[in-house]
Amino acid sequence: MRPFLSVVVPCYNEEAVITQTHERLRGVLAGLGDLDFEIVYVDDGSSDRTALLLQRLQREDRSVRVVRFSRNFGHQVAVSAGIDHAAGDAVVLIDADLQDPPETIREMVTRWREGYDVVYGVRTDRPGESAFKLATAKGFYRLMNRLSDTAIPLDTGDFRLMDRKVVTALQSMPERDRFVRGMVSWVGFRQTALPYQRAPRAAGESKYPLFKMLRFAFDGITSFSVAPLRVAIWLGFFASAVAAAGIVYALTLRLWTSMWVTGWTLLFIGILFMGGVQLISLGIIGEYVGRIYAESKRRPLYLVQERIGFEPEASRERGVPAPPVAAYPSQPVRHS
Ligand code: UDP
Ligand code: MG
Repeated sequence: MRPFLSVVVPCYNEEAVITQTHERLRGVLAGLGDLDFEIVYVDDGSSDRTALLLQRLQREDRSVRVVRFSRNFGHQVAVSAGIDHAAGDAVVLIDADLQDPPETIREMVTRWREGYDVVYGVRTDRPGESAFKLATAKGFYRLMNRLSDTAIPLDTGDFRLMDRKVVTALQSMPERDRFVRGMVSWVGFRQTALPYQRAPRAAGESKYPLFKMLRFAFDGITSFSVAPLRVAIWLGFFASAVAAAGIVYALTLRLWTSMWVTGWTLLFIGILFMGGVQLISLGIIGEYVGRIYAESKRRPLYLVQERIGFEPEASRERGVPAPPVAAYPSQPVRHS
């Protein structure tokens, strides 16, 4: 049987680029030769004409599948849904904005044929991104690697190719805070890096404002490390050490000099300091408790409003279960 490749594209308000993206993707995939492919677009609750455009693409092109969410669930969830719906022997994740050049897929497929299970793109160059974004991204990945036990390669995004066995492994990971690139690292198997040049966004604007980026960074750290919880302990030690030094200082003055420590200032600073330390520690613990709470509700990860272009029979023939209606990965897959 000819190998089958799925390409997963998360889209959120991408009306400005989506048609252009499809043309380029199609061109590259059709040029791959002895390989069948499908393109799974996940419309992450777009409020612009993205849904309409995807529908149109699907009508003209049989290799297009569209999964439409009931609302915006976020980039990482959209990627996860795409993975759930992909029927390929290998699955490629790529952004809709052409920042990851589709031509790189060719090289990824070559590596996959050489026997690698994961081929992840490493950005050598990121033109068109603000110095702030570059600096924060760099800092974040370095911090992440210090804190977590899973080594996540530097300067990688979600642009990657994964073999079916990696996809199956990912589907067995039920967590809600999905930091996909970290999850893929955690899975293991034979992984290799593929350097590529990142292009500027072809059109439209970034869907990751600062606030979302911070949230994403937090998800990454808390999903892969409990080191922040240890911060509380160190802060506690530090505060105690400062207090002990203060006591020695005050006693020394009182016993051997005539300059006693008097007044409210020191007292006040001491109280503020302790209050700060306690609130920070509580906040860190709260962050983890909140995640446990969200996890314990066991809600579906996403809800699908509409699905176009899927042929359940075809994917079942390939031994891949039909996509679930509402996915919570640890539940048995429901056939629609
Ligand atoms: N995206 C999504 N849901 C969201 C935000 C973004 O599916 O809530 C998609 C978006 O359409 C794009 C990809 O995720 O295909 C990356 O987003 P973007 O290019 O805006 O992020 P940046 O490259 O600026 O970090
Ligand atoms: Mg982008």
